[in-house]
Amino acid sequence: MKVVVTGGSGFLGSHLCEALLDRGDTVWCLDNYCTGEPVNVLPLLARPGFRLVRTDVTGAFDVPGPVDAVAHLASPASPPDYARLPLQTLSAGSRGTENALRLAVRRGARFLLTSTSEVYGDPAVHPQPEGYWGNVNPVGPRSVYDEAKRYAEALTTAYRTGLGADTGIVRIFNTYGPRMRPHDGRVVSTFIRQALAGTPLTVYGDGSQTRSFCYVDDLVRGLLAMLDSSHAGPVNLGNPAECTVRDLAGLVLRLTGSPAPVEYRPLPVDDPVRRRPDIARARELLGWAPEVALENGVRRTVAWFARGPAGVPDPHGE
Ligand code: NAD
Ligand code: UDP
Repeated sequence: MKVVVTGGSGFLGSHLCEALLDRGDTVWCLDNYCTGEPVNVLPLLARPGFRLVRTDVTGAFDVPGPVDAVAHLASPASPPDYARLPLQTLSAGSRGTENALRLAVRRGARFLLTSTSEVYGDPAVHPQPEGYWGNVNPVGPRSVYDEAKRYAEALTTAYRTGLGADTGIVRIFNTYGPRMRPHDGRVVSTFIRQALAGTPLTVYGDGSQTRSFCYVDDLVRGLLAMLDSSHAGPVNLGNPAECTVRDLAGLVLRLTGSPAPVEYRPLPVDDPVRRRPDIARARELLGWAPEVALENGVRRTVAWFARGPAGVPDPHGE
């Protein structure tokens, strides 16, 4: 297969590119590096079948030759990133998604949209099945991301129903692992960086809010399964093991052996109180379920951060 991965130099994209190459696919990785790092795919450059192209997918783009699948991951994804890049985030979800869809339609390729659990907003239903329509503030600080993804889902659905495009939508829940940027502002990377540096772990609110954290290898298996299927989705991909932010801080401190204290900071506006995927659909349609327990995944991630550039200032700002 020849697969185009937009946002392929980012955290999830780089793992997806690697997994595709591992199984013998040809990969065209498109990225503008607004939140991703070329270094994430540097080791892939030497591999046959890998092409890296710097491009902004909100403008017209093309790749030569036949294409079998387009996986559209390009979008800022962490709350500080999309707060810093509000218009770019809206464009990536709207124009970027449409351009990626057009490429897929022109080539008769399968299209995969990486949507998000954020379409559920601060959910009034728990855990969240795909049939739940969500509780999103359209003018809040998270709206540029949440509404862009909701629009992207509507657009993808319209291409399927109106043009017969072969599309699939996955809704990804909080995913973590190696190659997260130490300063991306997401909770797992932030706590690990802080613990390794011996600086206070910044827990927002009282830390009783929950998330369900999925290890990146599990998530990528789910992306591949959806890419290889013809299902429309949406399909939730995430690990249903739910954890409070306070407990996550405790786990990171235990696994790093860090003496760092915990410091409580104000809870950001519209921060969802709880989040947990109902993955019955993924089990049934894709035969997919996560396998890596939080403790194992965080241990692997800590090991990567301990070797990596956690002390290096972030070129994208914190
Ligand atoms: P990331 O920021 O590491 O990767 C996103 C990549 O997209 C970056 O390399 C960035 O430079 C690139 N990009 C952004 N706008 C672009 C544009 N206009 N043109 C070309 N490239 C562009 O984030 P990630 O965690 O790897 O997320 C990847 C995708 O998965 C995103 O669409 C995100 O919404 C979705 N997702 C991720 C999570 C998660 O927990 N990581 C959860 C839900 C959804
Ligand atoms: N969070 C925290 N300290 C941090 C960063 C995040 O307590 O330094 C909290 C944040 O308020 C949220 C949870 O951790 O309740 C997950 O945040 P993240 O940004 O990783 O993901 P999202 O909010 O998008 O699910």
